[in-house]
Amino acid sequence: MLDRQEQEALARDPIVISDVLSSYARRPGRWRDVDETTWRSYAWQWRNRLIDVDDLAEVFGLTAEERMTCVAVAGHFSAAVSPHYAALVRAELGARCPVRMQAVPSPRELEHHDDLMNDPLGEYRHAISGCSTRRYPDRALIYATHACAMRCRHCTRRSRVGLMECISREALETAVSGVIADERIRDVLISGGDPLSLDNQTIAWLLEHLRGCGHIDVIRLCTRMVCTLPQRFFDTELLDILRRFAPIYVNTQFNHPNEASAEAVEAMSLLRDAGCILGNQSVLLRGINDDARILEPLYRWLLRCGCRPYYLFLCDVAQGTDHFRTPIATGLEVMRGLRGRLSGLGIPHYVIDLPDGYGKVDLCPDSILSGAPGGQMVFRNWYGAEVNYTDVSAEDSE
Ligand code: SF4
Repeated sequence: MLDRQEQEALARDPIVISDVLSSYARRPGRWRDVDETTWRSYAWQWRNRLIDVDDLAEVFGLTAEERMTCVAVAGHFSAAVSPHYAALVRAELGARCPVRMQAVPSPRELEHHDDLMNDPLGEYRHAISGCSTRRYPDRALIYATHACAMRCRHCTRRSRVGLMECISREALETAVSGVIADERIRDVLISGGDPLSLDNQTIAWLLEHLRGCGHIDVIRLCTRMVCTLPQRFFDTELLDILRRFAPIYVNTQFNHPNEASAEAVEAMSLLRDAGCILGNQSVLLRGINDDARILEPLYRWLLRCGCRPYYLFLCDVAQGTDHFRTPIATGLEVMRGLRGRLSGLGIPHYVIDLPDGYGKVDLCPDSILSGAPGGQMVFRNWYGAEVNYTDVSAEDSE
């Protein structure tokens, strides 16, 4: 017989995304006359990114203060938004639209906070070449480019991504040969910027060299384009390259259900068909997704697309992002709200990436109410019921 608390918990409906439209169907008036074939072209999307302040103002209806901010950030982390991502903005939500908040610079980006850093993950301190770092014994990260389809306003690497210059082929070759020469490295992340902004030949060159190296087990491509410019993956040449070097782990970043689109569904399907293994790394962002009722439908949708929620990052201590930061406790509450509502497959690791490159630490809601391992314990379960448990004592198990 179920008690009332349990009955109530089991009676709650799952929260789902009701309809996933194409960005083409929602495109702003600026692109009203663009046909669908053109909209699906990666090259067109890239060429037509909103960069100019007047263009941003036209599409997003910038306030005078936002306009001034766009000018002020131009020197170090200017705005850039793909037409696809701009089409996901819901005008009726105004400045609180979670998609717009990630795309349009806030005046608060200009604040300086002494406890925030330009290099929050200590990536310069851990550099092993001009464009690679090693923060864990078996892993290396290569920054293959500084370019991105969009400049996310919460970006941790804003001080690098804001640099407009290209990473030279020579620097990339040095990074790759350094990784190949170090037999401790078994897992390589190709990141940036967004490495999918590189041309197909460079991507193939990178994958060929890394896959040909006997001690590298895992190759990861970190790209936000699945969300911000999924048209990149409608390219059969690129998909053939990824298939040739499968399995490639593709880590992307969706932060809110309003970022779901028919084009992203198609991109994830194509990536899966090309042998890629998909994972999502969300960032916990104040006023955007700091509520389990927002992340639950996002994670359900991602699972449906074959993309496993992998990490939920506490916002890093990056200068210019203070307005996005939440207390650690907010994320713990979010995790508590997800547990039981979704299977373990849909629950990411909630982590803090410690400042200055000291690594990731798991943040877990406390489920032990009293007692200690090896004795009588009381747990709190997913809907708040208190449950007794007798643990095996260390002496008994010897
Ligand atoms: S795509 Fe990634 S690297 Fe580029 S701006 Fe967004 S968060 Fe930063």
